[in-house]
Amino acid sequence: MADYDYDVIIIGGGPAGASMARIAAQNGMGVMIYDKRKELGEPVRCGEGLGEREVLSQRMDIPKQCFSTEILGAKVIAPNGKSIVWKDKDTRGWVLERKMFDKWLVELAVEKGAKVKTYSRVTDLVKKDGKIDGVMVSQWGNEPFEVRAPLVVSAEGMESIVARKAGLRAMSTLYDVDTCYQYEMKPYDHENLIELYFGTDIAPRGYVWIFPKAAKKANVGIGIGGHLTNGKKGGNVEGADPKVLMDRFIEGHPQLKDSSVLEDFGGVISVGAPIESFVKDGFMCIGTAARQVDPIHGGGIALAMETGIMAAGVAAKAHSAKDYSEKMLKEYEGMWRAGPGKKMAKRLLLRKVMEEVNDDDLNHIFNTITDADLQKIMDGNFAGPVAKVVAGRPQLLRVLKALIA
Ligand SMILES: Cc1cc2nc3c(=O)[nH]c(=O)nc-3n(C[C@H](O)[C@H](O)[C@H](O)COP(=O)(O)OP(=O)(O)OC[C@H]3O[C@@H](n4cnc5c(N)ncnc54)[C@H](O)[C@@H]3O)c2cc1C
Repeated sequence: MADYDYDVIIIGGGPAGASMARIAAQNGMGVMIYDKRKELGEPVRCGEGLGEREVLSQRMDIPKQCFSTEILGAKVIAPNGKSIVWKDKDTRGWVLERKMFDKWLVELAVEKGAKVKTYSRVTDLVKKDGKIDGVMVSQWGNEPFEVRAPLVVSAEGMESIVARKAGLRAMSTLYDVDTCYQYEMKPYDHENLIELYFGTDIAPRGYVWIFPKAAKKANVGIGIGGHLTNGKKGGNVEGADPKVLMDRFIEGHPQLKDSSVLEDFGGVISVGAPIESFVKDGFMCIGTAARQVDPIHGGGIALAMETGIMAAGVAAKAHSAKDYSEKMLKEYEGMWRAGPGKKMAKRLLLRKVMEEVNDDDLNHIFNTITDADLQKIMDGNFAGPVAKVVAGRPQLLRVLKALIA
């Protein structure tokens, strides 16, 4: 590390950056995480749901203080109110306390030797002979200074400003994002199920979620198609605005209409394809910065962690070989596209197909399929459920055939 301050500088201490930092440090790399927030994990901009299946593969034991409550299953509600309850190992999980969870993930990295600095915004890249060679960091709002490393990683989340400066096309169109609003509410008597409500009038090109929390609380949120927001027509909803739609949903909800709001925020999450390329010479992009998010539900925590670990393995090889070229780093991209990327591509197709389906069709689908079918659909095995749905409504074949082509 003769001329360098660190082997790798990671921009962002969210689940992606912290997971990468942990494994890179474990592999002997000198790691620095910069995060612009004053306190890691705060403010929370997340529904905080995390599937057990997604995390089991990472063999992590999430400590009690990092989650609010356990999820026992999911309840999916059609526009006409019919619901399917789906309880099995695939729908179990947690509603996290991300304030604690994000900090815990960074602490694990620090225990392996990584360094972290909060209230430290990376403002730009440093280049030497045209190659990325470090970053400019502004701490506590002061004049930026130079910090050098042969590898810089963007784990910046949706903003991905530095990734764009590195030449990656880390931009999302309005069509490929959901605009969201969420309240933490109390009291809410729940059954430890995540509840998902669908319907054009409820949430055009999206859904309302109620995620259970301890002490009779819940995260109540909405995500709608970004292109339908701000005065544009979304289905039957004129001038769709996520907060207005959510307030209307709450007013009509027998329990929530009398509950109080403890916290509220708005946010944007990708539901589109990942960015075209994740690496450049001396640069990697991971997690939501690379738009590695589930296009069906906008979940990105588990993917961010998985990707961080994947990228760290490749970074460690690059470190041993003293070769941080795009060619060397590309192995991470190949691993992602052959692994989680394949599954996400199927989910993106499903999202796009479901956009063509109206509420009446959706009611028919919910009347026809079972919880076992839902699992098949989420796993990308569309043929069986599609056959069942089309048998009762042949005209849907025109739309659904894209799933079985
Ligand atoms: C309303 C909403 C609800 C959601 N609900 C869920 C859910 O229930 N389950 C789920 O799995 N996912 C959910 N998501 C998505 C999830 O929050 C993200 O996918 C996840 O946080 C991605 O992790 P990450 O580490 O890639 O990025 P982030 O968690 O966004 O972390 C990025 C970090 O980078 C820092 N940073 C950014 N720019 C700079 C810079 N220039 N310099 C220094 N630091 C910088 C930020 O401060 C931040 O700490 C939701 C998203 C939204 C908007």
